[in-house]
Amino acid sequence: MSILIENVQFNNKEIDIYIEGNLISEIGDVNVEAEHVIDGKSKAAIPGLVNTHTHAAMTLLRSYADDMALQEWLSTKIWPVEANITKDDIYWGTKLACLEMIKSGTIMFNDMYYHGEIAAKAVKEMGIRGVLSEVFFDMFDETKGEKGKKKVIKGIEELKQFKSERVIPALGPHTIYTVSGEGLQWMREFADKHDLLMHFHLAESKKENEDFVKKQGMRPVPYLEKIGFLCENLVATHCVWLDKKDMEILARHKVKISHNPVSNMKLAVGAMLPYNDLISAGCHVSLGTDGCASNNNLDIFESMKFAALGQKMFTSDPTTLSASEVLKMATKSGAEALRTNGGEIAEGMLADILLLNLKDPAFTPNHNLISNIVYSANSSCVDTTICDGKILMRGRKVEGEDTILSKANEIAADLVQRSLNK
Ligand SMILES: [Zn+2]
Repeated sequence: MSILIENVQFNNKEIDIYIEGNLISEIGDVNVEAEHVIDGKSKAAIPGLVNTHTHAAMTLLRSYADDMALQEWLSTKIWPVEANITKDDIYWGTKLACLEMIKSGTIMFNDMYYHGEIAAKAVKEMGIRGVLSEVFFDMFDETKGEKGKKKVIKGIEELKQFKSERVIPALGPHTIYTVSGEGLQWMREFADKHDLLMHFHLAESKKENEDFVKKQGMRPVPYLEKIGFLCENLVATHCVWLDKKDMEILARHKVKISHNPVSNMKLAVGAMLPYNDLISAGCHVSLGTDGCASNNNLDIFESMKFAALGQKMFTSDPTTLSASEVLKMATKSGAEALRTNGGEIAEGMLADILLLNLKDPAFTPNHNLISNIVYSANSSCVDTTICDGKILMRGRKVEGEDTILSKANEIAADLVQRSLNK
């Protein structure tokens, strides 16, 4: 497969981009024949966006329970419904998530949920990239831990059948308050042995840190270092309640941090990611949305704006987290965290490209494209989404979208009804 994008805006110039297979082959004035030719006039090319924290099938719980406290929300609304979730629900919920991501310009996501092998099938069909992990809890109970480990081993075996450049198996230890130190050490050993990424929630609320200190006599991050859990293949999401020592430790172990500003604000976690201090400590930060029950969308355009504005508000300094820095968080930094050769439009990089519609009022006038992307545009400005050298959306049309929308509506209503009948 080859694609030639002609006369598109890139780095303030009008150029051509030639894609061969799944890589960007040539950029500039290109004179070749291609199977697909896209007129790039009045469009700008940017790298596809990367979302480093999702629970994809939670799209089915979009706007099901809002405006509640975190623990009450989880225990009275989310977990009772999730207890009834089936493989079919996961399949259609993940298809809906992929559709939403394609339409909002995200070409890769880092997921933690149930039945990874079913999510893998959905991701494979939809054409985007997914790092898929089965969530692991042991609740400090040995029997539960053994059962959970068996499930992880089986899940990774099943996921490996789908393994490709687009479907990447990973591990999903849930949090410090749902997984024991022994469980976390087992995860780290398993991750090293099979060269897998790990995906973990860390320092989301003040309470989880305080409870942990009461129990263990030390803060979570030094504890995680002590037990040997921290490493460069760990994506730690949230990381709101950190002190300077925590940040130094995370930087020393090259832990990748996923910032989820919309979810943090919606669940009122009480602080913002300490971005300036993290960068000064040498930490790596990318961007995520979290699941649709706590966001309530998977829109990285929206998250870019929330991230930038949240930092400015939090630091009382409008120079904090500039538009170009936040765009890098959502592209190059995300691709680095998930270990792919993407997030950048350059020869030899993965062909993951968005074409933005410059005829949209949000890009008019276009004094500064990056500022318009972060502060003015929204995801409906994405006209074309290309992932892995394939056109997934053109003129905002995605193949099969009507079926996915009606099926997901039906499945979500049935899931809630089944939970209420219990
Ligand atoms: Zn989460």
